[in-house]
Parts: sequence; C-alpha cells; structure tokens
Amino acid sequence: MERYPTKKIYVGDVAVGGDAPISVQSMTYSRTADVEATIEQINRLHFAGADIVRVAVPQMEDALALRQIKERTSLPLVADIHFNYRLALIAAEVVDCIRINPGNIGSKDRIKEVVRACKERNIPIRIGVNAGSLEKEIEAKYGATAEAMVQSALYNIKFLEDLDFTDIKVSLKASDVERTVRAYRQLRPLVPYPFHLGVTEAGTIFHATIKSAIGIGSLLLDGIGDTIRVSITGELEKEIEVGRAIIKDAGRSEEGLNIISCPTCGRIEADLVKAVAEVEERTKHIKTPLNVSVMGCVVNAIGEAKHADVAIAYGKGSGLIMVQGEVVAKLPEEQLVERFIQEVEKFVANQE
Ligand code: SF4
Repeated sequence: MERYPTKKIYVGDVAVGGDAPISVQSMTYSRTADVEATIEQINRLHFAGADIVRVAVPQMEDALALRQIKERTSLPLVADIHFNYRLALIAAEVVDCIRINPGNIGSKDRIKEVVRACKERNIPIRIGVNAGSLEKEIEAKYGATAEAMVQSALYNIKFLEDLDFTDIKVSLKASDVERTVRAYRQLRPLVPYPFHLGVTEAGTIFHATIKSAIGIGSLLLDGIGDTIRVSITGELEKEIEVGRAIIKDAGRSEEGLNIISCPTCGRIEADLVKAVAEVEERTKHIKTPLNVSVMGCVVNAIGEAKHADVAIAYGKGSGLIMVQGEVVAKLPEEQLVERFIQEVEKFVANQE
C-alpha cells in the first residue's frame, strides 16, 4: 500500500513525514542531569544508527543539562516533558523537538508560551498520547480504549492548531498491540501530521520484537508511519537494530542486505546457522540494497540464486558461489563464506 501522505517536519536535520525515509529513534535511560552518562548512551545510539534520540526531562536539573548535552552530540535531540511548562520553555531554547501533551501542561497561557518558544526556534512538538496517562475526562467517557487515545490526540492537536502551530507529530501508544494499531488507524485519516509509531512498554527483547513487528509492521504495511521507536526492556542498541529490521522487512526500506536462507531442514548439507550468522554480522554495515541467498542444498538453492545478487548453494562438503545467477566458483565448504563476503563487497563497490 502507498505510504500515507503527511506533512513533512524537521527534527534537527532529520526530516519526518512526507517523502522522508522512515526514521528510527530511541530514548536514553540515564538521569538526563548526569551529562556524562547521557552522552555515553547517546553515543551508543548514534553508533548503532539512531536517527533521533529522546531524553527525559522530569526535573529542572535535567532541563538545565540539555545545553551541555546538545553541544556534545550531532544527533537531533527530543526533550520529553510532562506537566511543567517551565521545563518545556528551557528545553525549547536548546533541543530539536519537545514532546509534551498540551492538555497536561496547564492553562492556555502556559501552552501559548511553550508554543511561542517552539515557534521562535522553529522546532516541532510531538504530541505523545499514552493509554496509561489519558486526560481524566476522556478516560471517564471512553475508558482506556483506542477511541480514547484518538480523542486525546484530537484534543491536544486542537490546542496547538488553535495557536496556529502545525509543526506537529503524533504518537498513540498502548502496551498492547491491538489497541495501538486500532488507534493509529482511526486517527490516520483525520489529521495530516506525521506519526511516530510504537508499542510502549513492550517487554524484553523477545516479546518486544514480536509485539513491535506485529504492531509497527502492520501499520507500515498500511502505509502508516513516519518515524518509529521499538520499546525494549534491554540494551539500547537493540531498539535500533530491531527498528531498522522492521522497516526493512515491511518493505519500507531497501537499505542493506535482504538475506534469504533456509529454515531448519533435514537436507541441509552444512552448518548453515553459523554461516548465516557470520554473513549477517560481517555485512551489517552495508547500506547498498542487495538480495543475497545462503541455501543449504541444491533443491531450492539454484532457483533462489537466480534471483539473488550474490548466493551460496551448499552441497556435500563443497558448494557454489553465484553472482546474479552465474556460477563464479566451486569451493570447499570452509572457504564459501569468505568468498561470498568478497563477492558481496565487490558487488557493492561496483554499485557505488
Ligand atoms: S534448499 Fe534444501 S536445505 Fe534449504 S530448505 Fe530447501 S530442501 Fe531444505
């Protein structure tokens, strides 16, 4: 399905929405006031390939640390703020986007001040609706449902639109997949703003990956979504790795290798698990779109190799290396991965 047309906004130098690539973001877990720890985590995320990073700003000391943090990273920085408009005013002087819910910032005058500060620096606001912290009146009327999340988003969007502010992105997160997906689908035709997708508090890596793949993946297939965050109780870098994989496997990015490999199968003639793991590890830096196949026996290997840019077809104790359907080498099993990597690198170099 075609990607839903949305307004393009900028978080620092990263475009979000419109025809911009779907970006991947994450959030530090340090106390933001601890500048060294926060920078260390931001650098890890940067190295892992994050496009945008968010930091929590619950206290004045966190807000006051933002300038130092911003000076030490080139990653676009989002400040996550609830309730306290003064923190938003300080953050807006420094960061590239603020995440607030206007409805919980207080009086109209306070929201006006925050909007004025964002307008002055030309930075967007992310409205971050969460099923766990809905406005009381909305929750009383709708319960903590997808409908309530949509109503909350519309309520908060209207606050900003009434102040003539439209540099907005929106997220609608719940901890279960179905509610999340329903909320995003309901809101999508009602507003033109880019969507930040995520299933919140999704658990440890195994379940978070599955929930996010189903939730974010379904929405991406619907053409919905402009930036994503995979929430994992675990290592920071995994959020980026899983996020990129979801975008790629949903067909919304062609960047890097698309690896076709056999499942467990009684006909496999080699240690395929080890071979594919090595291929994945040694090619993960490659951005050029490339189809490769690593197949365990001749049954489907030749057929798959015909559609692959570079392929291995294992046989008994040896195998073939194929480039765009042509056999370029027949080698002993232990030499196949090395030659395969060489052919991939050669192929990439020829594309550049
Ligand atoms: S190509 Fe061979 S090893 Fe791979 S799944 Fe098919 S039959 Fe099994």
